[in-house]
Amino acid sequence: MAERCEVCGNPVRGPVNTIQLDGGIFRVCPTCSRLGKPVKMPGDPRPPPPIISRSPPINTQYEEQKMELRRDFNTLIKSAREKMGLSQEELGRKINEKPSLIKHLETGTLKPNDVLTRKVERFLKIQLLIPEEAEE
Ligand SMILES: [Zn+2]
Repeated sequence: MAERCEVCGNPVRGPVNTIQLDGGIFRVCPTCSRLGKPVKMPGDPRPPPPIISRSPPINTQYEEQKMELRRDFNTLIKSAREKMGLSQEELGRKINEKPSLIKHLETGTLKPNDVLTRKVERFLKIQLLIPEEAEE
C-alpha cells in the first residue's frame, strides 16, 4: 500500500521525500517536496560501501605439467619386471600385451603410447613419465 503524502494527501508514487516546511517535518510526494527544504533523515538508506574484491593471484604452481617419457624407460621396465620375477611373456599376459611388445619396450625400440605407459606404470609400480623440465 502506497504511503500518503502528508501535504496533498495523495498516495505517493515513487520515493517518499522528507521535507522541512513551516517548521515541521513532512513526508511528501515528489511534487510537494518542492514546497519545502529536503531533510536528510537518519534512517535514510545509504548506498552500501563498495566491496573491493581482490581476486587472489592465480597459482601457477599446480598448472598441469607436461610429462614426457623417461629416456631410460626400457631399462626401468626391464628391471622392474625382473624384480617381480616375471618373464617377458608373463608380463605380457598380465597386462594383456604381446610378449614381443614387451621385448621391444625393453630394448627401447618401441616407445609405449599413453595407454600402454599407464598400464605398465600401474602394474610394475614404476614411474615412466617425468616432468619435462626435470630432464636435462
Ligand atoms: Zn503531495
